[in-house]
Amino acid sequence: MPLTKSEKVWMDGELVDWDNATVHVLTHSLHYGLGVFEGIRAYPTEDGPAVFRLTDHIVRLFDSAKIFMIDIPFTVGEIIEAVKETVRVNGLQECYIRPIAYLGYGEMGLNPLPCSVSVAIAAWPWGTYLGAEGKQHGVRMKISSWQRHDPNAVPTAAKGTGMYINSCLAKVEALKAGYDEAILLSPQGFVSECTGENIFLIKHGVLVTPPVQAGVLQGITQSSVMAIAHDLGYDVRVDNILRSDLYTADEAFLSGTAAEVVPIRSVDDRPVGTGEPGPMTRRIQEVFEDAVRGKVDRHKDWVEHVR
Ligand code: PMP
Repeated sequence: MPLTKSEKVWMDGELVDWDNATVHVLTHSLHYGLGVFEGIRAYPTEDGPAVFRLTDHIVRLFDSAKIFMIDIPFTVGEIIEAVKETVRVNGLQECYIRPIAYLGYGEMGLNPLPCSVSVAIAAWPWGTYLGAEGKQHGVRMKISSWQRHDPNAVPTAAKGTGMYINSCLAKVEALKAGYDEAILLSPQGFVSECTGENIFLIKHGVLVTPPVQAGVLQGITQSSVMAIAHDLGYDVRVDNILRSDLYTADEAFLSGTAAEVVPIRSVDDRPVGTGEPGPMTRRIQEVFEDAVRGKVDRHKDWVEHVR
């Protein structure tokens, strides 16, 4: 689906018309994939639009940049304000937000250090990533033949642009085979995560998600889900998961900013539980949907208002 344009894109401190938010073909990041980005959502609340866990996302952006030695020429506070401004000027009540820091035009070659660093922030309306049907009834997953990166090949703790060619390979493979989304295993053979989401399973009432050692990006939705599950009195563990654990799980779901909380209905054609979303998944999904809209008192600090 083509994306829905909004009016303005923030580029290095200027608000540029959407159609003019372009970069030169010799932009360094386009060639070598060295850049860092975030995916964030804003939701309507009683007090107007609010960005969900904006500070945590921008801190992760700067952490990703630090890992790659990309020196972002703005402060965390300036980028937080710039995100709010981008949502405000576009008059968006609910949107997806994409900040990206990239190496600009002017230098080429593999040493990125002499390159200029630019930051752009776009925001546009974007419905749920895996579809309303998937959110309601669950998605069909395939274990990918592509492995998640080894953390010593590329740092899986970072959200680096070029790293996503791995996700694209797995996504295309899954879609071509008739599934909705892929699950990648770590080089050690443990369940890692999906192409742009973390994964959870539930067995005998215990919620389990893989550790960072399995090459997982520590998701902000994942951490929100863990807090919500804890509030609900569920037992939450971070532990290694085998693919067969997914086949025999009572419930499973994925979590991510774009996808939100989405039940998994099957893995490699084995129905998860009854094949319909289970009660714990449903409850977590409901509370998450309320939390992002500022309706959960305990987590009101997660919503950061744009005005
Ligand atoms: N893993 C990967 C590889 C991702 O790209 C994302 C999306 N940023 C996630 C997990 C989920 O992270 P979050 O909940 O912070 O969006």
